[in-house]
Amino acid sequence: MNLRKASRKRSVHAMLVYTGGCNGCEIEVLNALFSPYYDVEQYRVMFTFNPREADVLVVTGPITVRTLPQLKAIYENMPEPKAVVAVGACANMGGIYVNVFGDLGPSEQIAGPLEKILPVDAKAAGCAPRPEDVIKAVASVIPKLVEAKR
Ligand code: SF4
Repeated sequence: MNLRKASRKRSVHAMLVYTGGCNGCEIEVLNALFSPYYDVEQYRVMFTFNPREADVLVVTGPITVRTLPQLKAIYENMPEPKAVVAVGACANMGGIYVNVFGDLGPSEQIAGPLEKILPVDAKAAGCAPRPEDVIKAVASVIPKLVEAKR
């Protein structure tokens, strides 16, 4: 087994995708996952911007018709095994934008809650969710990934 494969078996890479919204969720995700205070790297959860390295897709914001193709392309480029975490009211149900984006034109229509677009493994509720809830949601998918990588 090569070193890269061996290393990846012992770590989980999370990729944050922001599909719109107010940035509140991104701040909480970045606080939750990558600040020294919570320090999830001690659990071998790393951050990546490369879908080909990502095990966990963390999605924030309302899923609009405009962002849908890019979101699906990112998911399809992630290797198996993979997991999806929906963070915040917007990703989970459109949030406050359900009644706003419709007035901005067809490409800004809400394409649906994330779970109707991708297989969601875990959710963090809230507007914005607490960092602890983001960590809990991401941590809940780690056993599935670790088991599948064996
Ligand atoms: S769920 Fe709330 S905090 Fe998160 S992007 Fe939507 S409006 Fe902002």
